[in-house]
Amino acid sequence: MTIKQTLSRARAILVASNIEDAPLESELLLRQALRIDRIQLYLALDRELGPEEDETLWKLIKRRLDGEPIAYITGQREFYGLDFSVDPSVLIPRPESELLVEKALKLAQEQAVFTIAEVGTGCGAIAISLALSLPQAKIYATDISAAALKVTRLNCQKHGVVARICLLSGDMLAPLPEPVDLIVANLPYVREAELSRVNTHNFEPSLALNGGADGLEKIAQLCSQIGDKLRTGGSLLLEIGQGQSRAVTVLLRRLFPAAEIEVAPDWSGIDRVVSLTGHCRKGLSG
Ligand code: GLN
Repeated sequence: MTIKQTLSRARAILVASNIEDAPLESELLLRQALRIDRIQLYLALDRELGPEEDETLWKLIKRRLDGEPIAYITGQREFYGLDFSVDPSVLIPRPESELLVEKALKLAQEQAVFTIAEVGTGCGAIAISLALSLPQAKIYATDISAAALKVTRLNCQKHGVVARICLLSGDMLAPLPEPVDLIVANLPYVREAELSRVNTHNFEPSLALNGGADGLEKIAQLCSQIGDKLRTGGSLLLEIGQGQSRAVTVLLRRLFPAAEIEVAPDWSGIDRVVSLTGHCRKGLSG
């Protein structure tokens, strides 16, 4: 069979299994099996597939049909226009988390943001996107998982930001050596009881998803750790899950009565990012 014929066969199989983006995914799987890029694939459409290549491809297709996310099979996911390596020790970056990056960049235009901490960085997608867009900023990225930090390191190397991002191993803000101007976090916020509802969650690290009984355990823990880790006048940006904006806003208002709190929806209208600005602004608390 030629590559072209194989591609359409793979696509038909993925379509039959209700895989949403079958045309793209069949191409990604074939490229992964042949270890070639898009252009090489299109230049080789009439070439016959060797038996080993064929076997490798069908193994990859089987993994996909068993529900494994394409990002773990190819080891790649695009985020904010950049390619990131991923493996099952890290959450697969979601497009809606780009809002966190956009909000951080907007804040950096409005106020002095010299130092940033990203908490629970995983593959590093957010910290690295920020490092590349804010060349003057000093960035800390923390994670409690040593395996995740290996992936972060790899991605920092890939994007040439090893010297720009200080990777810290530990629980949320605990390893931070100095107060920062901005804290950004996409913490685990899925309710424990709902963890298996989304198929990709079965493959992703529960450490990156499980927000405890109400989904808000980790967010609450981070908020209570803030103390003097955030400079006076500094900001906090949190990604949240559907239906969590009220509870998170109430929590933040109780802990930081003088700060301004806003909630921004993502492109599908779901409240996604809570921002707290003007941390500890003395004199305004009344
Ligand atoms: N948005 C992710 C999901 O629903 C969850 C990410 C998280 O817990 N931070 O799959």
